[in-house]
Amino acid sequence: MIVTVASGKGGTGKTTVAVNLALSIGDAPIYDCDVEEPNVHVMLQPTELETREVQLPIPEVNRESCTLCGKCAEFCQFNAIFVGKNGVIVYPELCHSCGGCALVCPENAIAEVGHTVGQVHITEANGRRVVYGELTIGEPIATSVIKAVKNEVVGTEVSIIDAPPGTACPVIETMRDSDYLILVTEPTPFGLHDLKMTVDVVRELSIPFGVIVNKAGIGDDSVTEYCKGEGIPILMEIPFTRRIAELYSRGIPFVEELPEWRERFQQLFRAITEEVEHHDQ
Ligand code: SF4
Ligand code: SF4
Repeated sequence: MIVTVASGKGGTGKTTVAVNLALSIGDAPIYDCDVEEPNVHVMLQPTELETREVQLPIPEVNRESCTLCGKCAEFCQFNAIFVGKNGVIVYPELCHSCGGCALVCPENAIAEVGHTVGQVHITEANGRRVVYGELTIGEPIATSVIKAVKNEVVGTEVSIIDAPPGTACPVIETMRDSDYLILVTEPTPFGLHDLKMTVDVVRELSIPFGVIVNKAGIGDDSVTEYCKGEGIPILMEIPFTRRIAELYSRGIPFVEELPEWRERFQQLFRAITEEVEHHDQ
């Protein structure tokens, strides 16, 4: 079973929820797909076991065979290849690795070479598998690194995935194949706005989901009212207390210091398991 923790925007406590949930339910592996700003390993301080490069094929032009005919540039919809008077220039950061330019080149002058867009780190923290992706700075397309992280998901009983924030392609790529989605939000008008957008996306994916309200007590009732009206279960409310905020600021998962929360996450997980079983029937 794959449980993915997502949120409409950054800073809602998504990673905190993912880590505290994983720590509460045994040695469930955790996969950080927030590849532009991975944080799970910062909280869990794992030991690195292996690092893998994530590469995408990009064109490389053989100057000897190229006649500067321009067909490759004409074909490329992303302006990733430019044919000038003296040669061909490839812009790897614009290339979508479709391979089309190589196909249309009449001289077979284009070969594909690997371009590193990020890394996947396979690590371990106290017997728990922690895998996180890191998109190379300046690389615009996160989905290939996310896919590489998800390829590491092994057939354990349960895996926890920390999704990137937002509702764009990287989030959808992360949520795909999940059995349950936890949407973390804050009880404020901004939180509600982002939650609504996420709910619209999640409903399209037909994956069962529920909401965790983080920093409960700081805002208003709009998130609760919305969830009630939409029939969305509120799985948990995490209050904005000094103790939790302090642990958070020190990067300590709060279930490690506040054992009653471990039990609450276990209850939450039981409810999710029942919901997934019910959904599958
Ligand atoms: S299509 Fe091939 S031959 Fe024509 S400009 Fe591009 S690389 Fe050169
Ligand atoms: S592989 Fe596709 S996206 Fe990249 S330069 Fe060639 S045609 Fe453009």
